[in-house]
Amino acid sequence: MSLYPKNYRTLRPHWLRRIGFALLGVVLLYAPFALLTRALLWLTGTPLLPDVHRICMRMPIQWLAQPWMYATMIQEPLYLGSVLVLPAIALFVGPLFCGWLCPAGGFTEHLSRLVPTRFQIDLSGKVNPVPVRYGFTAGMMIASFIGANVCCSFCNFTYTQNLISAVFGDFTGIAYWASFMVVGFVLWFFVLGLFTRGGRGWCNFLCPAGALQGLSHSLGRWLRIGRSVQIDHSLCRNCKTCVSTCPTWAISSKEDQTQINIHGCNVCMDCVEGCEQQAIAYKPNRREARHVETAEPAHA
Ligand code: SF4
Ligand code: SF4
Repeated sequence: MSLYPKNYRTLRPHWLRRIGFALLGVVLLYAPFALLTRALLWLTGTPLLPDVHRICMRMPIQWLAQPWMYATMIQEPLYLGSVLVLPAIALFVGPLFCGWLCPAGGFTEHLSRLVPTRFQIDLSGKVNPVPVRYGFTAGMMIASFIGANVCCSFCNFTYTQNLISAVFGDFTGIAYWASFMVVGFVLWFFVLGLFTRGGRGWCNFLCPAGALQGLSHSLGRWLRIGRSVQIDHSLCRNCKTCVSTCPTWAISSKEDQTQINIHGCNVCMDCVEGCEQQAIAYKPNRREARHVETAEPAHA
């Protein structure tokens, strides 16, 4: 069994570009660099350590269910990134952060290509991850309302930060893995990462930041504003290459028609680059887009 999808050679330059952007994400968001975080802390005069927790993308989503936390979000506007800035961007251009900049999602996706596919679980077409992700996000918010903090126990941003800190000599975060946190790490990195086809099992099932952006992206399509990845069925031969290429299992082939589930698409453009028919394009959401694409679940 091949290590890669059959269009691997076509996709290699594109994957290298995306790896470059994921490394940029590391430099922008993660200590010891955290250039974006440092700049935002400096601009807002906030005396906090510059690491990924300062622009946490999970807690503020949890706080949406806690009206008493709204004042905190307004006082520390860095916390508004995941609930305002990323969804606003996604409304017009999709979850570009997820597909291109997120070091946590990119880390497992790109590394998973080194694992032979015979060792990977392939749930695409068998499980529709979209309702699971929306359900997990809703459950996390409801649990927070009664005082349970789910998001920090299952935070792949934290695990990635711990790994990067350890590379630069700070092993404090790794030490926490002697606790229950190791379960989350194993789940994120091995089970849903390296040993799941696409390496994005965590993003597909559990990421609240991805869920909010996916919802916003689909709203943009519904309102016919912004852009999204769309298939031109007059060019598509239904070869299913894109189905096996998509790391988020957002493409399915149903009744001889290939479809993209916009709720799961993170606009990584792998399918755009890999389609030999050039049947897939990232283009403006026009009136006819509703007929070209449907938001069907990604079941085969
Ligand atoms: S969109 Fe392209 S890659 Fe996907 S099934 Fe159609 S021809 Fe094949
Ligand atoms: S549908 Fe295409 S652009 Fe969207 S996540 Fe899948 S491969 Fe990437």
